Amino acid sequence: MIVAMKAGATEEQINHISDRIRGFGYTPHVIRGTERTVIAAVGPGDKKEHIEQLKSADGVENAFPILQPFKLVSTEVKKQRTIIRVGDVTIGDGGFVVMAGPCSVEGREQLMTTAEAVVKSGASILRGGAYKPRTSPYDFQGMAEEGLKLLAEAREKTGLRVITEVLDTEDVEVVAEYADILQVGARNMQNFALLKKLGEVRKPIMLKRGLAATIKEFLLSAEYIVTHGNPDVMLCERGIRTFETATRNTLDLASVPLLNELTHLPVIVDPSHGTGKRSLVRPLAKATVAIGADGLMTEVHPRPEEAWSDGPQSLLPEEFDKMMREIEPYIALRQSETN
Ligand code: PEP
Ligand code: MN
Repeated sequence: MIVAMKAGATEEQINHISDRIRGFGYTPHVIRGTERTVIAAVGPGDKKEHIEQLKSADGVENAFPILQPFKLVSTEVKKQRTIIRVGDVTIGDGGFVVMAGPCSVEGREQLMTTAEAVVKSGASILRGGAYKPRTSPYDFQGMAEEGLKLLAEAREKTGLRVITEVLDTEDVEVVAEYADILQVGARNMQNFALLKKLGEVRKPIMLKRGLAATIKEFLLSAEYIVTHGNPDVMLCERGIRTFETATRNTLDLASVPLLNELTHLPVIVDPSHGTGKRSLVRPLAKATVAIGADGLMTEVHPRPEEAWSDGPQSLLPEEFDKMMREIEPYIALRQSETN
């Protein structure tokens, strides 16, 4: 349930209500807005008698049930958008961030060439997989910690922030040591042990939508991370599996404005995995800006035909540069609409 405190409610009253919520068996999450404080009480069910009792307590304006199955990530509980700060990059403040880089970190030359190219074109975050979730056990599985070190070196050289995937609970610590943002891949969206562990990490998480996940399941997975203690979660639409085989996945662009209605978390779009086709990335990048996403993730490789993974969907650095120029007017239009 949500307990909305009166505008002038005291700390003592907020603490008292939090204690009563605990006494009823829920966990209180105090959310301080600019005008008033609300306390989200999360737990199994919202009992009518608890709501009634809290309604009449001192300092309480109102108490009502949370209708959505996801609670802390929902706009019902928190209207203010979540803004994530990564160094000097902010995500979710109405601006548009671009994350770019190779699917896999393959070596120093490949990563540095890509990083230098994407920063020059205006990207602010470097992506690159060091732990790779591959369909076949015989395919390249990633450079592991060596790859993480290269990503950290690229950050030093370029000033780019770094995002990389964590595949396993066992690797959370080492990935969190090197990365600025930890990515949960589509195949792990419902790896609940991993999600819980990421709740304890003090770094932002980007959660990718599962291959066959509904929006509700997607948001419930984000809820796992937030309810375990980490509020800095962004969502990434990367396409879902449908009957259509002409593209690698079906990029569900409708999910973006829908997620913006349902959740205060930032939303990123990945047209590379969303289509699997280089030629489709630039048009969908423009759409991504137009529909109100907070950012974009694209794969870039200096020699896509030689890439160890996802070459067919990787942009050449010059194509990436072109994409960056093409999205500029859409970003400017958005800014003029909000000003
Ligand atoms: C990736 O970003 O390299 C990746 C494996 O993506 P996804 O989990 O969306 O398939
Ligand atoms: Mn990839």
